[in-house]
Amino acid sequence: MDCIFCKIANGEIPTEMIYEDDTKAVFKDLNPQAPVHLLVIPKEHISSNNEIDSENKQIVGEIFELIKNLAREMNFDKNGYRIVNNCGNDGGQTVKHLHYHVLAGRNLNWPPG
Ligand code: 5GP
Ligand code: ZN
Repeated sequence: MDCIFCKIANGEIPTEMIYEDDTKAVFKDLNPQAPVHLLVIPKEHISSNNEIDSENKQIVGEIFELIKNLAREMNFDKNGYRIVNNCGNDGGQTVKHLHYHVLAGRNLNWPPG
């Protein structure tokens, strides 16, 4: 499958990993929108939030717990951060592999554009 995040997850595209285990990978966004801009992905190809089901839903909780731990380790837990999942065209999803943006290091505007 021609999926850029699958290729990052399986090492086909060499990428500096912030964190990696059997089921998840975390790396910096190519085009950062904040001083900290991480992407957190399941290694399994899940196209979007629309494909979450009873078989794969556990990874979502694991990802959110991982983000909590990274926030503490990278020292932005106290100041705060934003977790974003873009889904589909109206959501602004450009890469069709489920991913969570983690933005931190500046005061983030609300509402988003
Ligand atoms: P989306 O718009 O789908 O929510 O977010 C996709 C994100 O992936 C964008 O913020 C974009 O900058 C990032 N991105 C796209 N291709 C690559 C890549 O090859 N490497 C990295 N590190 N980030 C990428
Ligand atoms: Zn994929």
